[in-house]
Amino acid sequence: MIKFLDLHKINERYRSEIDSRIKDVLDSGWYLQGKQNELFSEHFAKFCGTKYALGVANGLDALNLIIKGYGFGQGDEIIVPANTYIATILAISENGCTPILVEPDINTYGINPDLIEAKITPNTKAIMVVHLYGQAVPMKKIWDLAKKYNLKIIEDAAQAHGAKYQGRRAGNLGDAAGFSFYPGKNLGALGDAGAVTTNDEKLFSKIKAIANYGSDRKYHHIYKGVNSRLDELQAGILDVKLQYLEADNAKRLAISHYYREHINNPLITLPQTYDEQAHVWHVFVVRVKERERFQQYLDSKGIQTVIHYPTAPHKQDAYKEFSSLSLPITEQIHREVISLPISPVMTQEEVETVVRIVNEWK
Ligand SMILES: *Cc1c(COP(=O)(O)O)cnc(C)c1O
Repeated sequence: MIKFLDLHKINERYRSEIDSRIKDVLDSGWYLQGKQNELFSEHFAKFCGTKYALGVANGLDALNLIIKGYGFGQGDEIIVPANTYIATILAISENGCTPILVEPDINTYGINPDLIEAKITPNTKAIMVVHLYGQAVPMKKIWDLAKKYNLKIIEDAAQAHGAKYQGRRAGNLGDAAGFSFYPGKNLGALGDAGAVTTNDEKLFSKIKAIANYGSDRKYHHIYKGVNSRLDELQAGILDVKLQYLEADNAKRLAISHYYREHINNPLITLPQTYDEQAHVWHVFVVRVKERERFQQYLDSKGIQTVIHYPTAPHKQDAYKEFSSLSLPITEQIHREVISLPISPVMTQEEVETVVRIVNEWK
């Protein structure tokens, strides 16, 4: 069986270093807001190229906290791609803001920058881009629009640790970014974890306070905050794994190269990228008309696949208010996409097997 993602094998490579960090935390007797968070936030900010990074409880909270940090709420509109994982949109609606859904570019799967301007109203406060599947959104037009209409750019970088646009990394392509370190992400914790990155000192201080009960110093509360902190164990584990992120991303890139060069089945539409630096291949998503039959075929040949994602957010029961929206490109993507195995621990033999079996499908 070729696993979609072998998390045990991924983390086993770092077992002794992870064990030693866990020991450090146990020995210290200090479990929250300590040295491991200091180290990880410093190293992660440096990795992204931002001035600040703050560890938080998970990726959804990271996005939520950014919106809270800006004080956006009822009546405010945030432009967001319709083709995303539902968490992006939940962060907007949870704050009482209105998500304005925009169709993606069928080639990159990211938001189509040409469709944004028509959606801007006097209530628009921000554009939330999603670097979906690991590919950084081409930002130029979005930067220009944000400037022209005085909008904030919020990045959902949950799938794009290390992806680059014009030499700058995801997390440093807007005003603030939310990351997830859910175990299956390119940089994954051994549990839930997330981070906010930004260059905005005021925003950073406010989010830091909000994430800690709205407190800027002990027992002094300036905001009605929440509890969303990254614990010391996860921070230490992430700090270990961050050292290997670039090497892991390079392995993903090499596999994606091999797939893109050798999969030549005309029934399969391969993913496209506008720049090899832009994509960290969190998932390798192909499109196929008869998806269910293809998935069953791969399964019968011992290849695990996952669908990212089977139902568009606007078609979910949770968003009945969007059920009448027609978003044909988003809907087509949700109907046709399927993700092939890709990970830093796949062997060349496994990669070749996937190619052979995919090419044999008819
Ligand atoms: C994983 C993910 C999130 C949410 O992250 P969690 O850590 O699971 O809360 C948000 N947006 C996207 C695009 C994601 O892939």
